[in-house]
Amino acid sequence: MARLSLYRKWRPQGFESVVGQDHVIKTLQNAIETSRIVHAYLFAGPRGTGKTSTARLLAKALNCEKGPTTQPCDECESCVAIREGRSLDVFEIDGASNRGIDEIRQLRETVRFKATQGKYKIYIIDEIHMLTIEAFNALLKTLEEPPENVVFVFATTEPQKVPATILSRCQRFTFRRIPTEVIVDRLVEISEKEGVKVEEGALHIIAETSQGGMRDALSLLDQAMAFSKDVVTSKIVQEMLGLTDAEALTSFFTILANQDLKGGLELIRSALFGGKDLIYFMESAMQVARSLLVVNADKTAPLQPGEILLSRDRKDFLQIVKTLDSVYLVKIIETLAEAVQKGKQTADPELFFDLALVTLIEDKEKSNEIESLRSLVEDQNKKLTELEKKIGEGKSQVKQKYDVVTYWKEMLEKLKSKKDTLEFYAFLVVAQPVAFDGHNLYINFPETYEFHRANVVNPKNKSLIEAKLGELTGSTIKLHVDKTPGAKKDPDFLAKTQDVFGGTILKPE
Ligand SMILES: [Zn+2]
Repeated sequence: MARLSLYRKWRPQGFESVVGQDHVIKTLQNAIETSRIVHAYLFAGPRGTGKTSTARLLAKALNCEKGPTTQPCDECESCVAIREGRSLDVFEIDGASNRGIDEIRQLRETVRFKATQGKYKIYIIDEIHMLTIEAFNALLKTLEEPPENVVFVFATTEPQKVPATILSRCQRFTFRRIPTEVIVDRLVEISEKEGVKVEEGALHIIAETSQGGMRDALSLLDQAMAFSKDVVTSKIVQEMLGLTDAEALTSFFTILANQDLKGGLELIRSALFGGKDLIYFMESAMQVARSLLVVNADKTAPLQPGEILLSRDRKDFLQIVKTLDSVYLVKIIETLAEAVQKGKQTADPELFFDLALVTLIEDKEKSNEIESLRSLVEDQNKKLTELEKKIGEGKSQVKQKYDVVTYWKEMLEKLKSKKDTLEFYAFLVVAQPVAFDGHNLYINFPETYEFHRANVVNPKNKSLIEAKLGELTGSTIKLHVDKTPGAKKDPDFLAKTQDVFGGTILKPE
């Protein structure tokens, strides 16, 4: 005979073993104690959070030979029959399987018969939102005039799809996703009772993956046990789930620290070919980053979930914190969150992972660039202040009119793009722009380009060039070759200015 699954074996048999839904259980127990059982309940909540189990417990509580009681005995004929799924008074209908038409029809025919063994007839309709309109209408007629001692429990993962006419006749309970820690505790308890050795990290991964659903968590633990020979380790669980292992995650953060784009793209590729789930990879990396933030702020913070994913040695963890500051960690989380969101909507999350990586690495480079630019600007500002002081002393005045470098580049582009000026381009391209005030253009030729210089200063060429430049800019241009602007006023001025501006000189008036 096949081994009973953990989920079935450890299904809660008493209210006390339903985990993570205390608010629901307490209210139900109060209702039982004060005999205020209503005709219809709606249990809404994510899959695997205990809706059907609680419905069965309610049936037991109502029909136990010692009941109605908040503590069904689990021994009497009724309790055992319900546990074994063969009670003649408890009907389970799956709304999803054939959308319920025949079942609801049958329900209407039999609902008025008295309970066979127990005091109540209990109808549990799972995934009620899947019922057809006809089935809903038939159900509604029964709900409008409910027979005595009949209790309906409707379970749904999508309450918004249940017609309002049904909802208004139900007492509603919302089942919540079970917190990861609560799932872990339950898994620890069950593993101990099963005599199975497990690493706590493995249970954390299972709990995280099952996203608040105990049923999924127990199924995963079942699988992991089947995969493992001796101990259920994190590595086994990760392999089983096709998840990213600690090694790959560590590499990922090292790559970010080193701003190694090529390595990062290779890592994504090898994870993909290794059958890893890239969405999970990104989610895990986000969790590591989040934990790094916490540990960064407080080195004595308790063990964080991301530490379990990466390694259990805080030293390794702190090593990574050292290289990635909090601002960048936040950036990592934000960028990956966006990639995960987009990646989930496509069959190709790889693309979004790649893009996220490029963003993260370019950003770091950019912020380095911005940093060096900022110090450069500060430097220039200092020099400018000094220069202004000197100019003030020399009673000269400097006024910026044109950015000669930009102007020069544009001009060369224009000369290059036309056949009849291509020759001038060839001569002028080696020259260095010095100053330009809108009409007077000062350029220098390096000594090694005497041939070029000679061609430009040749009066015939010079006037042609001036005419062409004038055509292109729409104003009269006078070309000054190897001459110093403002030389008459202050022979040192050019040298001083050049020192400061590195070649871009403003013409004094
Ligand atoms: Zn009983």
